[in-house]
Amino acid sequence: MDSEPETIVENFVNGAPRRAESDDVIEVFDPSRAVRVATVAASSHRDVDVAVRAAKGAFAAWSARTPSDRANLLHRVADLLERNLAGLADLEVSDAGKPFTAAHDVEFPAIADAFRHFAGAGRVTSAQGGGDYVAGRSFHLRREPVGVVGAITPWNYPLWQAIWKIAPALAAGNTIVVKPSEMTPLSTAAFAEIAGEVLPPGVLNVIHGRGPVAGEALVEHPLVDLVTFTGSTRAGRRIAERAALTPKPVILELGGNAPVVVFADADLAGAIPVIAASALYNAGQDCTAAARVLVESSVYDALLEGLVEQFSHAVLGDAHDRETTLGPLISQGQRDRVSDLVEGARRSGRVVVGGHNVNRPGFFYAPTIVTELDQRSDLVQSECFGPVVTVQRFEGDESATAMANDVEHGLAASVWTRDVSRATGISAALNFGTVWVNDHLSLAPEMPVGGFRASGYGKEGGAAGVEEFTRLKQIVVRSATTES
Ligand code: NAD
Repeated sequence: MDSEPETIVENFVNGAPRRAESDDVIEVFDPSRAVRVATVAASSHRDVDVAVRAAKGAFAAWSARTPSDRANLLHRVADLLERNLAGLADLEVSDAGKPFTAAHDVEFPAIADAFRHFAGAGRVTSAQGGGDYVAGRSFHLRREPVGVVGAITPWNYPLWQAIWKIAPALAAGNTIVVKPSEMTPLSTAAFAEIAGEVLPPGVLNVIHGRGPVAGEALVEHPLVDLVTFTGSTRAGRRIAERAALTPKPVILELGGNAPVVVFADADLAGAIPVIAASALYNAGQDCTAAARVLVESSVYDALLEGLVEQFSHAVLGDAHDRETTLGPLISQGQRDRVSDLVEGARRSGRVVVGGHNVNRPGFFYAPTIVTELDQRSDLVQSECFGPVVTVQRFEGDESATAMANDVEHGLAASVWTRDVSRATGISAALNFGTVWVNDHLSLAPEMPVGGFRASGYGKEGGAAGVEEFTRLKQIVVRSATTES
């Protein structure tokens, strides 16, 4: 692999860059070109400890500020974020392989908007009113910050995921230590320095490093009061186990394997482009990507033909090109995983389009549709995380719901029909944290998202997503005149 002039990515601790003390280094690649763009100094237990202690040291003063005061500071961070948005988006084009227009025109404006939403949301958290439930005693509830938050983020939406954790945690009065994915550290590292111009030292700290070392050290640290994690179900299980040793609460936003249930009465012409776009956005590396298309038999052929046509329009190319709509997968390892799943599926199913690596520099995989698969096949049952959809047929509402629910993940699903009562009934029966009707992928920071079952627990976004970063304390006041 060629190499370009590189950046050494440092931790950001107590308001300043800080080089990790360990000798371990991690290379960061541009997945469009397979060239190294940066090197990360990987943190040891000791580096993590220094960052956690910085966050602990900043907590008393930060939590004592009024919600209004914190919101004002966070809005000043948002001003700087907006001013630096294009540069931050460029970093993600480089290390995450995000197509230029998706990063610049879609995701980064939404990141800034979410930041502003969360900045203000800390002002409107509430707790149930109290009451005089026992003679002579008055009961009150106090909602307060948890303390030091440890946040661990994945590579598919690096800054997006970081902001959805940092902004609500800080708005609610916590301090935070963030460990971004070692594959995509650049935007979070740059954001920390930008935010550091406004935030008091220690309020926001970023450490880089490997999951099993720096990530686990953060999870296990006795001064970390809550862990919020977005990533794979595999790592989520391990994190929950390690967090249980303290113990401390954990928010787990894990994998998905979204069904797309299309009934014969759906507006197919409207549905097909949205389903295709939701399957291929971010090269399918999205926990809510349209992954398993379930189609009522009578419209199966029409839907499949439409999807094949839409997939042929994907403009696969270097993420730095403005015309590109389909970028690379994040790494050689991720491409191998996708390829292995599709190869396995060939044994029982039919690859209608795609099904191969693309012969060019970088980690590209062709947009792929696989049909005629058994419900138990690995490609149906696992999260693929590539530009791949399966298409299966069903007969009747009950069979559609059963097939949709018959996987371990429960993050997101969509149902496509013109029949309102069917849409309502199927939405209720689907065992997923988000159900879209005649839509897929749309999201708003005002609303809580989160998974069921192997997709984790806890919410991000909305009032619930801010309250996850708080704890409730009961205060019982006995009046002076009470005798017992
Ligand atoms: P991953 O689990 O491999 O890594 C995620 C983060 O966890 C990284 O920072 C990594 O260093 C860290 N990590 C790994 N092992 C760890 C351990 N033992 N202890 C502590 N930290 C550890 O996930 P990924 O491959 O980076 O991201 C893709 C996954 O994220 C997919 O499964 C996807 O569905 C999921 N995801 C979920 C959501 C959601 O909201 N539910 C959103 C985006 C991505």
